[in-house]
Formats: sequence, structure tokens, C-alpha cells
Amino acid sequence: MIHFVGAGPGAADLITVRGAELLKQADLIIYAGSLVNPDLLAYAKSGCEIQDSAKMTLEEVVTRMKDAEHKGSAVVRLHTGDPSIYGAVREQMDALEEAGIDYDVTPGVSSFSGAAASLGMEYTLPGLSQSLILTRVSGRTSVPDKEEIESFASHQASMALFLSAGQTETLQKKLLKGGYRKDTPAVIVYKATWPEEKILPCTVGTLAETARENGIRKTALILVGDTVGHHKKGIGGDRRQKAYKESRLYAPDFSTGFREASQNAGVHLISFTDKGERLAARLEEGLSQKGFDSDLSSGREIPLFEWVTAHFKKGHILIFIGAAGIAVRAVAPFVKDKREDPGVIVIDEAGRFAVPILSGHIGKANEFAKEAAQITGGTAVLTTATDVNGLFAVDAFAEQNGLTIPDMKEAKEFSAKILSEDGVSLLITPREADRFHLIPKCLILGVGCRRGKKKEELADFLERKLSEKGLSRYAVAAIASAELKKDEEGLIACAKEWDVPFLTFPVDELKQVRGEFTDSDFVEETTGVGNICERAVAAAGASRLVLKKVSENGMTLAVGLKEVELYVR
Ligand code: SAH
Repeated sequence: MIHFVGAGPGAADLITVRGAELLKQADLIIYAGSLVNPDLLAYAKSGCEIQDSAKMTLEEVVTRMKDAEHKGSAVVRLHTGDPSIYGAVREQMDALEEAGIDYDVTPGVSSFSGAAASLGMEYTLPGLSQSLILTRVSGRTSVPDKEEIESFASHQASMALFLSAGQTETLQKKLLKGGYRKDTPAVIVYKATWPEEKILPCTVGTLAETARENGIRKTALILVGDTVGHHKKGIGGDRRQKAYKESRLYAPDFSTGFREASQNAGVHLISFTDKGERLAARLEEGLSQKGFDSDLSSGREIPLFEWVTAHFKKGHILIFIGAAGIAVRAVAPFVKDKREDPGVIVIDEAGRFAVPILSGHIGKANEFAKEAAQITGGTAVLTTATDVNGLFAVDAFAEQNGLTIPDMKEAKEFSAKILSEDGVSLLITPREADRFHLIPKCLILGVGCRRGKKKEELADFLERKLSEKGLSRYAVAAIASAELKKDEEGLIACAKEWDVPFLTFPVDELKQVRGEFTDSDFVEETTGVGNICERAVAAAGASRLVLKKVSENGMTLAVGLKEVELYVR
């Protein structure tokens, strides 16, 4: 028996328990020396023979396996990551089958999983991408024409590129040609999970340059896509992030087998005839595919009053399949307040119309009527004013674009104004304003400080200086400083409290940024660059300074403005 074993991405303890067990028992280990971390060989028992397949041909590998098998030795063929991905294992298995030798496979953690773990990222963020493409550029092994990078790039899904680090120039061109934006986030992960791991955030537009500057040509994965921009804080790379939607899985109105939603037991359907029951069953199935739990009741089995009593609680969605009159009479005694009443929807037996009759917005009847209509192929009949008039929803707009609403009450008044007037102007500004406005995340704070400054003192200083300039702290997009400040706890804590990234830049990079800066000899002497805060602002991507360096009590601040992109459809 030959055991093919996935070694995992690098770190020796990322092999599976089964894989480690097989290594311990092996009399012969043939491992891919170019990519498998030699630390894994520590699992081998003494006297185990170890061979590096990097120096062998396929034929030699198979001959060694056959010999060992005939001697009755336990053989492990150790492959990097998971053997099923670019493992060249199938050809070995074929040769073994031909020789009548049995084999089995123990999977491993692939490097694309290892890389995501190091980054703290998720390839499948709702609203950005729900797919992951694993591929490579063609090299010595050619890639079928239909699988050209350009054609995959047209999906703009998350993509992990293996075996491509030596051809980033070509790769970048293909990615762009295929449809990724230049500023689509990308990251090069060199030797993920190895001690010498390097994480190099960049964008599709700077991919080749980043690989070149860092001398990366192999043992690296290239990850591309909007999901890649969302990762652990502190990894660096101030890239524009496209917002993602939160997963339905943890939404309060969504219950799974593991988690009963507290106030929300999902969707309750009731029908009264055979035809109605068939439609209800279709809806249940469709809703479940969309991730919503629902249950079915028959009005012929349970008294309607009892059913409504059981389900007319905040958060439940009630769907009546039948005539609107039945539904109206049934819920009428329970109706109280639009903030509490559940969404109630009526759908005709044929599934042609889904009509929300109660709590369209807060109770989500409109949303579910649309979902239901999609399933039945019918039409959602909405009667609420903002929907009917196709009006602008300021809260949704703010949410989609990462804008902060400073005052909910004013937001409501603003919405009412949209309804009553023919058009209103919406102010978007980082400045404190005395009319309703939304705050974009567009300020970069360049900060320097003496070692050991406490978070409270720093936060107070920053907030005060912003406020003196009339700027809102909700407009802060990032805090930037020099790399030598990367462990400065006060700054890290500030960034955490304000929920913004803390970006640091090497002195060399700060020296190179262009612009007019208030350089000082003293700072130059102590840090190697004439000014930290202003230059950090520029390095972090601000297009201009709105506040030049100010100092106080061992702390300095400069504020820069960066462009903000809004997504519209
Ligand atoms: N079977 C392996 C892939 C083998 S192909 C797996 O599942 O990961 C070899 C390619 O995998 C390398 O060129 C590189 O792109 C990628 N790779 C393997 N280990 C890696 C690691 N620790 N970090 C980054 N990339 C790695």
C-alpha cells in the first residue's frame, strides 16, 4: 500500500493527524523537496529512508515505490498542500494501478487555505464574490485555451493563482484585460505559514511591480479579487475596500439548525386548498434555497385564529396563500404598531401576485414579497410610498458606500422631505455641518509620537485637532505612521477604537514620497526622515494635506484628504 499524503502548506503542525500518523509509521518517505517543509520529516521514525523526489523522474519514483512495496515496506509519498491540486499524483496512481499496487490518499491543507488563514480573509464574501477560482498561468504545463486567465477574470470572482509568481507581468496584463479593475485588491503570499512567510498586499495594477521589488519568483500564491481587500488589520496596504454584505447566516431573522433565531422564527406559510398547498411547498423549498427557514400549515387542519396567535409576534413573516380578505380578517384583531407588527403577505393561489399588506419596511413584508415573487415567477405588489416612487433611501445609500449618518433623527426628516418635495440636495462632507449630511471616510491622519504615549492622550489630541479644524472623527479612514511605530500601543489602540486600519511605512518609502513637507533636522536625525506625519499621509494615498503638521506635547499630526469612490447602480 502506498500512502499519498498532503503535507499542508508549510508549518509542520498543519499536516492532518492521519498524515502525521502515516509519516511516523513509514519505512520510506518520498517527499517533494522543493516545496515540502523539511521540518515535517521530524515525524519519521529512526531508520526511515527519506528520498527527495525533486531529484527524481516519475519513472524513478514509481520504481522506488514498487521495490519498497515488494519488500513489504510502508511507503508515504508526501506532497505539498493538498495532493489533488497541481500534485501530479494521478500519473503516479495510474502507474501503480498498472503494477497492481494499491494506494490511498490523505488530504492536506492546501496553500490557498493556508494563505487565507495568514491573512484572516474569506474568499466568499456576500455581495463581492461567492466563488473561488483556483488556476494558474500557463508555463511548462500548458493551460487549455478555454481556461485562459482573461476568461476567468471576466467573472471578477475571488481567484487564487498557483505556479504563477514567476510570470506576474503576463499575469497582470491578462487579469486587467479580462476585467479586473486596476485597483482590485491583490496580495502575494510567499511561503504561507512557513517561518519565512511574506505577505505583500498590492492591487492588480501593482502586482508585477510588487513581485519584482520584493524579488518573488516562486513558492508564492497570488490572490486577487475584492474579497482579498478585507483582511486582518495591520497587514498594511491602504486599498480601497468595496463593502461586502453580512452573511445571511448570522442575520437575526435567519435561523439555522444550530441557532434558533431569538425573536424570529422565520417565515410561516398557511394555505387552504390543494393548489395552495402545492404552491406553499414550492415556496418553502425556494425560501430554503435562499437561506430562509419556513414552515407550512394547512388552514384545513389548524384553526386560523390559533395559527395567527402562535405566529403574530415581532419578526415573524406570515404568508397567506389565498384571498386577501381571509388574511385581513385573521390579523385584524392583532394589529398594533408598525414597529412591532410582523410582515404579512398575501399570495394568490396561482402565485401571480405577492402583496405585502402589513409592515412593508420594518417587518420586511416588502422584502419577502419580492423573494416570494421571485420563487413563484409572479409579481410583488408594493404599495409603500418610497418604493412606489422609486425614491432614494438614504440609509441604504449610506450603508452601501461606507458613509456615516451622524444623526438618525435628521435622516428620517430628510427621507420625509424627499417624499414631500420634488428633489432635495444631499451634502456629503467630512466637516461638521449644521444641516443633514453624510460623512465619507476620506481623512488620513498621519501621526507621530514619543514612545509610550497612552491611547487616551493620543485620542484626545487627535479629536481636539480635528474638531478645531471642523472635521468629524467619523471621516477618519486610516491612521498612518512610520514603520518604527508599528508596535506603538497607543496608536494601535486608537485605530482599534475608531475601527480604522493602522498603516505604517518604512522610512525609505517615506523619504521617497513627493510633495512639499515641513521637514525638520531634528526629526531627520532621530528617525532618518525629515517628517513622519505629513509623509505618512502622502504614502497612505492622500491626494492633499488639509492640515499641516501640528505638534503638542510629543505628539504630531497631519491630516490628508483622499478620494472616495461611491458605488452606484
Ligand atoms: N498541492 C499544492 C500546490 C502545489 S503547486 C497545494 O495544495 O497548495 C505549487 C504552487 O503552490 C507554488 O508555485 C505556489 O503557487 C503554491 N504554494 C505551495 N505552497 C505554498 C505556500 N506555502 N505559500 C504560497 N504558495 C504556495
